[in-house]
Amino acid sequence: MRRRVPCLVGVTAVAAFVALARTGTDAQAPAPAPALENRANDFNAFTVQGAVTALIGPGGNASTQGNITVQVSDDATVLVDSGRGDANDRAIAAIRRVSNRPVRFIINTQAGRDHTGGNEALAKSGRPYGGRASGAGFLIADQGAGATIIAHENVLARLGGAKGGAPAPFGMLPGETYFTPEHELFNGEAIQLFHTPAAITDGDSLVFFRRSDVISTGDVFTTQSYPRIDLAAGGSINGEIAALNRILDLAIPRATQEGGTYIIPGHGRVSDEADVVEYRDMLVIIRDRVQDLLKKGQTLAQIQATKPSFDYDRRYAVAGYTGEQFVSLIVDSLKASAATPAVRSAR
Ligand SMILES: [Zn+2]
Repeated sequence: MRRRVPCLVGVTAVAAFVALARTGTDAQAPAPAPALENRANDFNAFTVQGAVTALIGPGGNASTQGNITVQVSDDATVLVDSGRGDANDRAIAAIRRVSNRPVRFIINTQAGRDHTGGNEALAKSGRPYGGRASGAGFLIADQGAGATIIAHENVLARLGGAKGGAPAPFGMLPGETYFTPEHELFNGEAIQLFHTPAAITDGDSLVFFRRSDVISTGDVFTTQSYPRIDLAAGGSINGEIAALNRILDLAIPRATQEGGTYIIPGHGRVSDEADVVEYRDMLVIIRDRVQDLLKKGQTLAQIQATKPSFDYDRRYAVAGYTGEQFVSLIVDSLKASAATPAVRSAR
């Protein structure tokens, strides 16, 4: 059963719903809010725009599963990310509620296990791509009977253990990688992958569905918390801000185009350009405060004592990832950037 749950969509859609509820007429109301399933303890399919649906994990907008994007053509289904891997049957059932077309590609936005854990099972639920070239990357034919997993080459290096850590099972590894700033494939519409270096990690991809006008961001953007930048995996605060600016370069606001660009975050609710602007501005403000204090020669303890993230902690601080921890991360990242000019100058 489907029912409308407008609290999970953008502010404008919520306002439209409220207006509709108050007036009891749709004479002045914009298009209805996208439909959202409401299944407890399950992935819920949220119809975003065009050919794109978001699967929001159990727990809704607070889910600890990475969001899964489902894009459908007449021929095939393309996924962005595959969840944590501990609820694969429910993820596959949700994908099949959206489309009966075989999963042909799974794009990984990064190597984190909350986005790649379901790679093997979800790939096996699909079929490999055949007959048409997918782009300029390297295609490894020996993928068994499953879908092809695509990611930036740094994701393969991390999952495969080449950058330290235990290697993931072979079936979880991307079979096709790219190393250029952009990569493209096609499934009823152009799908562009943009590598955003040194953001959350060194292997993040933004995925832009051009005709549908939807961007899947992975963890570069989340509505749940401060960005979980992984410095050890090549992430940085300045690269994270640059990646958010890249999203804003691609996105068109609602005012100038019907619907505008929808943004599917790595975690949390489906958003629009204004939400990303707010998130980017928040990070710039906190980063600048920390940077000014660093330039004055203050220590981490002194900087934390001024609470540079205080006005945002109520919104973004969570258990296990507090404002203090985030400020500490920014300090470490800025110190590393100062020692590595290439990172500092990254767009
Ligand atoms: Zn994540």
